Amino acid sequence: MEKKTKLSWSKRRTLARTYLTFRSVSLNLLGMDLVPENPPPVQPAAQPVPPRLPPDPPSRLGQRKKWWEKILAVLGAVGAAIAKFFAQIKLLILPLLKFGLPILKTGGTMLLSMWVYAQMWGWWFAAGFVILIFVHECGHLIAAKIFGLKVSAPMFIPFLGALILLKESPRNAWVEAWVGIAGPILGSLGALVCEMIYLTTGDPMYRALAYTGFFINLFNLAPVGQLDGGRVVTALSPWLWVAGYVIMGIFAINHLSLILILIMATGLPRLFSLFRAKTDEQKRYFEVTAAQRFIMAGMYFGLIALLLVGMELTFIPRN
Ligand SMILES: [Zn+2]
Repeated sequence: MEKKTKLSWSKRRTLARTYLTFRSVSLNLLGMDLVPENPPPVQPAAQPVPPRLPPDPPSRLGQRKKWWEKILAVLGAVGAAIAKFFAQIKLLILPLLKFGLPILKTGGTMLLSMWVYAQMWGWWFAAGFVILIFVHECGHLIAAKIFGLKVSAPMFIPFLGALILLKESPRNAWVEAWVGIAGPILGSLGALVCEMIYLTTGDPMYRALAYTGFFINLFNLAPVGQLDGGRVVTALSPWLWVAGYVIMGIFAINHLSLILILIMATGLPRLFSLFRAKTDEQKRYFEVTAAQRFIMAGMYFGLIALLLVGMELTFIPRN
């Protein structure tokens, strides 16, 4: 009995610690990770090739002119060779820029995030944490690719998690819900793998990672603002947004979470638009069949339930 009381106290301490971590770091982790990108800037039209200089008029100083012409011809040939060289380089460099830069950007921002988190939790945990976020983002990426949506490579922002930019909006609420839920689904599987590693190696760090992963993905399923949950329940019922705002609102006020309040505030326009009278086109966007709604609701509430169970099972009381 006494032991149980002790455990419960330590559990409380851990909860307090978890909450602190939650507040200082994770609150809007992956928070706004599916951000619609500003319309891409209009590419300036290709520079017209400057017209060639008109040939010099026949010169009265015949011999001297020919000498200049020779030099010009050599210079022209050299210039043409250089231009050709750069044109070929461009052919090589452009694909490199196109595919290399996003990788560099993702990798670089990933490393930066890892460094920041490592200062708090040590390198191994930080690496696992950032990889878990990356797996979550990959879920969104894969779903977006399957539905043929253009998205950016993930970018990591220390303290904020990561985000990918949607370069075009989803066709309808069903597609949006899928892109939204795919992140938490894959992210939760990633956390499950951490728990499996714990069960085989016995290294408690992996269990801590699993717990953190379950928590991040659960948090992102909250039906508010730009969080993944907000996108998912758009296909279910706007009233879930209201429920989400009530629950998260109470939480945000209780814990004076500025970040959560910000997430909710930025989501308000969407909340109102869900209840406003819709145009025919908007109505078509929100058309979801009963079967689709059933599937999405099953995945959404099922995943929430599984994550709660996962968090309960992987909870490590500190002594
Ligand atoms: Zn997400």
